[in-house]
Amino acid sequence: MLEPEQILKTNFGYDQFRTGQLEIINRVMAGKRTIGIMPTGGGKSVCYQIPALMFSGITLVISPLISLMKDQVDGLNEMNIPATFFNSTLDYIDMSERMRYVESGAVKLIYAAPERIENTDFYGWLSSLPIDLVAIDEAHVLSSWGHDFRPSYLAMVNLINQLPAQPNVLALTATATNSVQTDLAHTLNVSDDNIITTGFERDNLALTVEKSVRKLPYILRYAKEHKDQSGIVYVGRRKDVDRIYEYLNDHGIKAGKYHAGMSDEDRKNEQERFLFDEVDVIIATNAFGMGINKTNVRYVIHYSMPGTIENYYQEIGRAGRDGLPSEAVLLYSPADIHLHLFFIEKSEADEEYKQSLNNKLQNMNQLATTEMCLMKYILQYFGETNYDKCGKCSNCTDVRESIDVTKTTQMVLSCIIRMDQSYGKKSVARVLVGKHSLNKNARDFSHLSTYGLLKDKSLKEVEEFIDYALSSNYIEMTSDQYPVLKVTQEGLEILKSNKKTYKKVSKKAPAVNNIKIADGTFDEGLFQELRRIRLTIAHAQDIPPFVIFSDNTLKEMAQKQPVSSSQFLEISGVGDAKLDRYGKRFMEVISEYVSA
Ligand code: ADP
Repeated sequence: MLEPEQILKTNFGYDQFRTGQLEIINRVMAGKRTIGIMPTGGGKSVCYQIPALMFSGITLVISPLISLMKDQVDGLNEMNIPATFFNSTLDYIDMSERMRYVESGAVKLIYAAPERIENTDFYGWLSSLPIDLVAIDEAHVLSSWGHDFRPSYLAMVNLINQLPAQPNVLALTATATNSVQTDLAHTLNVSDDNIITTGFERDNLALTVEKSVRKLPYILRYAKEHKDQSGIVYVGRRKDVDRIYEYLNDHGIKAGKYHAGMSDEDRKNEQERFLFDEVDVIIATNAFGMGINKTNVRYVIHYSMPGTIENYYQEIGRAGRDGLPSEAVLLYSPADIHLHLFFIEKSEADEEYKQSLNNKLQNMNQLATTEMCLMKYILQYFGETNYDKCGKCSNCTDVRESIDVTKTTQMVLSCIIRMDQSYGKKSVARVLVGKHSLNKNARDFSHLSTYGLLKDKSLKEVEEFIDYALSSNYIEMTSDQYPVLKVTQEGLEILKSNKKTYKKVSKKAPAVNNIKIADGTFDEGLFQELRRIRLTIAHAQDIPPFVIFSDNTLKEMAQKQPVSSSQFLEISGVGDAKLDRYGKRFMEVISEYVSA
């Protein structure tokens, strides 16, 4: 039997396993039920695709992301790995043809949606197959703590357990919270030793939070500066998607759009245009991206703030799946919170669930306003406490000076306490700057010792300072309909002990937004030539360009300029099948370019 390392090199063209991959593969091969938790882009697929090639029978991959299946199967077929999929997009004839193909014994991997497994006929058919492994992708949907819980999928676990072939089970997810882990281990009967979690840091992502920028011009400038690079702009509301889409196109940017209000066909077309690099940037609601396997997305911009850190991290995770440096920019405006609060309040969910959504929203807001390393804040949220700092987010690279703001913080905290911790941000700020309430019936606070203490500052400045105290965790905001400020334990320490607190001030150096590409240098002209031939082949075969070769692979070609088969195989991402299929055509382009 071939070793996993050999398969990784021969079929996938990669020299080394990434963190966690081999640990997972070894457990799976030893027949142990395993859970693998890795960030998006971490390389989860290989963890079941390599065992699939090592087992004599079939590996069944269950994935709720129907739109991803075709790309996955295309990608495998490109590497001469026989795979097929079953989902609701197929008609009866296509289904039965595929079933016969599987029965012939040729197929190594079957992809199917969870709903399909619950179909009695299909399940009966599956029961007759020699299935060695069931891989459950996006397994967080099985946990009530996951952000996308689907209770009906739990029924599928019973069905898997009852398959006559008694296959091993591997569950994979990028959702890292402890509660999801524990829940999955329980549901799938996996012991603690067989839960493999890799670090959650995405070290090729530079995170930026921009406050008080004019959003539309910002996006336009950004898209112009990143011409010929792929990006996604996430927008909360459909009508804003339409508006930004028109604005960018009017200003010469090749932009596409995607939201649930468009017809299926329009959405499919726009998605294809993005996959095939025909548009640079796609403006979309969060309905877009679940099934997008495009690896060369260089940036994700959030026009509006997501409601949870889970969603935010998943959405920015769509940038840089090829491992190249990429950016995520959050255009923050405090008003986004109110929109989320409104939707939470209006939803049909019970009070407990609403409360948990409120807490998640507060966490997201604190991430947007903290002065801590942004990656550290996120990892801490997911339970990883020993991370130092990323060194490249907008907080780590913030060159502003820190000044001691202990006294001002104490004034704010003391004012909140004197107002009986019963008022919101605006009222507290008005008292601090010495302005009477606008509401005639409101309580008169002018006798308080904290009244007018910050009268040398504007109302807006004081409100911003309160935001800083919120994100530093000195105060918290209740999640009622009329949120009020309360002083936390950490706030009390600032008031009562000698603990000092610092805040960044003065102007910030202009952010460096340009993305520097790949390590080392490569020939940009040759890279563009290689992209062109890739696109021609992609169109001819009707598969997205990145399924043929990733940008990273093309850049390495443009750098090393291989002209023989052995040199071509040295390139990361080139295995035997890709060499056979494409080696000649790409090497011709390289030779012509070099000798021109
Ligand atoms: P995930 O499902 O975890 O989001 P994928 O399985 O789609 O990630 O992998 C992301 C990218 O990383 C793919 O292009 C894949 O081919 C590549 N990849 C996976 N394993 C390796 C490896 N060991 N070395 C280099 N690239 C890898």
